[in-house]
Amino acid sequence: MNISEVLFQTAKEMPNHAAIVFRNEKITYHELSDKVKEKAAGLRKYGITNGSHVGLMMANKPEYVIAYFSLLAIGATVIPLNPTFKENEITYILNDSDAVALIVDEIGLGEVQKAHKSLSSVRSIFTLTKTEAYVAWEEVSGEPANFFIEQKNPYDNAQIIYTSGTTGKPKGALITHGNLGWMSETSADLLELTKEDRVLVVLPLFHAYAKLQGLLICLLRGATIYLEERFIPDVILQKLADNHISIFLGVPTMYTKFIHSPKIKELDFSSLRLAGSGGASLPVEILEKVEEEMGVQIGEGYGQTESTVMISCFPSDIEKVPGSVGVPVPGIELQIVDPNGREVPVNEVGEIIFKGPNGMKGYYKKEEATNETIKDGWVYTGDLGRRDERGYLYIVDRKKDMIIRGGYNVYPREIEEVLYTHPNIVECAVVGESDPVFGEEVAAYVVTKSEITPDEIASFCKQQLAYYKIPRKIYFMKELPKTTTGKILKTPLKKK
Ligand code: AMP
Repeated sequence: MNISEVLFQTAKEMPNHAAIVFRNEKITYHELSDKVKEKAAGLRKYGITNGSHVGLMMANKPEYVIAYFSLLAIGATVIPLNPTFKENEITYILNDSDAVALIVDEIGLGEVQKAHKSLSSVRSIFTLTKTEAYVAWEEVSGEPANFFIEQKNPYDNAQIIYTSGTTGKPKGALITHGNLGWMSETSADLLELTKEDRVLVVLPLFHAYAKLQGLLICLLRGATIYLEERFIPDVILQKLADNHISIFLGVPTMYTKFIHSPKIKELDFSSLRLAGSGGASLPVEILEKVEEEMGVQIGEGYGQTESTVMISCFPSDIEKVPGSVGVPVPGIELQIVDPNGREVPVNEVGEIIFKGPNGMKGYYKKEEATNETIKDGWVYTGDLGRRDERGYLYIVDRKKDMIIRGGYNVYPREIEEVLYTHPNIVECAVVGESDPVFGEEVAAYVVTKSEITPDEIASFCKQQLAYYKIPRKIYFMKELPKTTTGKILKTPLKKK
C-alpha cells in the first residue's frame, strides 16, 4: 500500500466531511483529495516521479497537506524542512538527501534563494508566491482523471526526516510507508480517534509528531484538523474553547505557557477529551496544573524521529502515573540496557532500546551512524530510562545530557523537576559546566516571574536534593533558547 491511501479512502467514505479548517475556511475530504490528485498529476509533468527525493519547506497551511500527499501518492520521498532554516541548513539537508526538487512557501523563500547556487542536485523549485526565477505552485496542475497512485511495498521510503539537530550534524532518518501505515493505525486506535474528533494542530507539520498524530491519523479516521500557523497561548486557548476542540497536541513548553495565561481560568474546555504531550519531558508540576485548570487528561507519550513517532504512551485502560511516559505501545518490544547491551534489573537506569514496526530503516547514506544506532534490529534511542515493577517507563534523561560531577551521575531532569515546583520559576534548563575540581558542575538557567536570588534557589533545592545535585551556578535568562518545535535547546547553554 501507499500511505497516501489514507486520504483517498476517507474521501470516498465521507466526501463532504470537513478535513481541514484553516483561518475559518473549511476544506472537505473530497476537495482535499481532488486537489491532491490535480497536484500529483501536475508534479509528474515536471519529471517528479516514483523515488524522487523532494524537499518540502512550509509552515502549517493546507498547501502543506496537499503537497505532502501529492508527493507520497506519486511515490516521491518527502524531505521535510523547517521553513525558518537558514541558507547553510537548507543546503546541507537538500544536498545530503539528494533532493531533486523543493516546494517552498514565502517564509523560506529568501534563504532558499541564497542557498540556490550551492544546491547540487535540485533541478526544480516550486514556490507558493510567484517569482521570476521559479515555478509558481499554482501552475503545477494536471487532470485529476489522469491520476494514479504509485504502488509501494512497506519497506519503501516515504520520508527522510532530519532529526531536530540539537546534537551534531542532522542525520536523515529513513521512514517507510510501512512505518507510517503501522504507526497510524496503532496511534489512531490508542487515541480512540473517530470522525467526530476535532483536533487542533499548531505543532509544525514538518516534525514527525505533528505529521503522524496531527495529520495522518486524523485523515485515516476522518477527523477534522483545525490547523494553526502560530502558537500564541491566548489565541490557541480561545480557539480550543470556541471550536469545541476534542484533542489538542502539544509539547511541554506550550503547557507551561498555558498555565501562565489568564484565559485558562476564564474559558470552558469541556469538549477537550485529550491533551497530548510529547517531544520532551513534561514536568509533573505543569501536568497537574493543566489537568486541574483545564479539566482534561494529559496523555504523555514518548518517542523520537527514529521511532516514526511513539515508543510508549498511556493506553486508556491503564492507570496514569505522573512522571512516567507509560508503557510500550502494543507491538513494540522495549528493553533497558547497560553499556554492554545487557538488560538491567527493574528500577535501574540504562539506555532505552526498542524493536518494532515503527523503527526507522536507518540513516540515509550514513552506514556507520546506522550501525551504531540499530543493532540486531534494536534501535538504541540515546535516552536513559528505567522501568518500575509494573512495567511503567520513566525517562531519566538524554544520555548525552547526563552530568558527571565528581564521579556522581547527575540527571538534569531530576533537578528541573524540583525547580519547576518553585512558584517563581517559569522555565528552566540544567546543564553541566566544565569545572577544574569536579570535572563538571551543575548549572541552572532559569526564567523567573520576579526577582529572586541564587541563594534562595539553591536553598530551595537543598530541601529536596542531595548536595552534589544542587546547582552551584545559576543564570537568570529572559528566555531560553528553543527549537521551533518548542524544545528547550541545551547546546547553546552548554557552550557558555
Ligand atoms: P525528536 O527526534 O526531535 O522527536 O526528539 C526525540 C527525543 O525527545 C527523544 O529521544 C527524547 O530524548 C525526547 N523526548 C520525546 N518525548 C519525551 C518525553 N515524553 N519525555 C522525555 N523526553 C522525551
